[in-house]
Amino acid sequence: MARAVVVVSARGAERLRSGHPWVYRSDIRSSDAESGDLVQVSTERGRPLGSGYWSSASQIALRFLGGEAVDDERAMLRDRVSAALAFRETLAIDGTAWRAVNAEADRLPGLIVDVYGAPPDRIVVVQTLTQSMDRLLPVVTDVLNELLEPQGILARNDPKVRRLEGLSEVVLVASGTVPDEISVREGPVEYVVDVRRGQKTGLFLDQRENHAMAVGFARGRALDAFSYHGGFALRLARRCDQVTALDSSAPAVAEIVAGARRNGIANIDAREVNVFDELREMEIARQRFETIVLDPPAFAKNKASIERAAAGYKEINLRALKLLEPGGHLITCSCSYNITEDMFHAILEHAAIDARATVSLVDKRAQARDHPVLLNVPETHYLKCFVLRKLA
Ligand code: SAH
Repeated sequence: MARAVVVVSARGAERLRSGHPWVYRSDIRSSDAESGDLVQVSTERGRPLGSGYWSSASQIALRFLGGEAVDDERAMLRDRVSAALAFRETLAIDGTAWRAVNAEADRLPGLIVDVYGAPPDRIVVVQTLTQSMDRLLPVVTDVLNELLEPQGILARNDPKVRRLEGLSEVVLVASGTVPDEISVREGPVEYVVDVRRGQKTGLFLDQRENHAMAVGFARGRALDAFSYHGGFALRLARRCDQVTALDSSAPAVAEIVAGARRNGIANIDAREVNVFDELREMEIARQRFETIVLDPPAFAKNKASIERAAAGYKEINLRALKLLEPGGHLITCSCSYNITEDMFHAILEHAAIDARATVSLVDKRAQARDHPVLLNVPETHYLKCFVLRKLA
């Protein structure tokens, strides 16, 4: 079949050669493609570069699939999903909820696949975030049914980024049946997940390895700020005297309380509060903690909000360093891809100066390995997790 042809500028071609799979609309010279088409990509001189997916709406007009010609989309999807699954098997993931496909980092632009549980009760949650992947949802569903044998597949297509592609926000069962509650395990902790209504696809799977890492620093009185279902709090509780968990979402707080009961944990105090207000009050009340976790939502959702976001990160880290006992640890995260690791480092330096604290940097981490970072695509390294130790 003759494919539509998209001609990219010299700068666009150079970007593809450098390993970045996105070409912005300003680097498109011509295109006869329609929304969501599989296209041939070529230079202005007519030299073929490979295949890609076209978006008629997004500023990211083209997402490159690689130098090889793709003829059979189903075969391409099946190969790439299989490769993604084979990689996950090498990770020896300690849990039954994990990310199977992480979009560009698995050479599947626009596709997210999260797995909850094992067959026969396994549920798969997919997100098709571009016009092309959305067109392919029925094929993706077939491939996932074949390779993962789930009880049901939920298309959790309510992320706002779909608007940039001109796609609507919808949640629908793509195949089989999807129960309201699914039980999964992460390390020693049992969770009950609502994949339809929970944040992200139900759990923050990208923090799994950081939850486990935090256990090594847990002691004394602990604070888990922005706790959601207690990914950190429920792990810290077994090692700490007492854990205070803070979240502004009532359903999240209710789920930590239920999770503590389910897991036989009695030393968590979960509160529905605004963390900014609560940290200020804790500081006035001269409260002290040996272990603190800060895991806020992305403050910098775009470039325009970087400055405000930096101020927000600085404020909470400054207060946390004041609340921290000397010898204690602060595990502090940013999931804004617009705040680079270097920027986050600088924000923490300034927070330490203003808190008059002497602080060492114990560890610098990223998202869990089943959410791989693509080496040439800084946008895919969104989660930073630093471990700081307050010396004095
Ligand atoms: N730490 C969690 C994930 C946290 S996600 C884990 O590891 O699983 C961020 C959380 O912050 C969400 O649950 C959201 O409800 C909460 N949140 C956002 N703004 C907040 C605020 N100002 N105060 C308290 N909680 C907030």
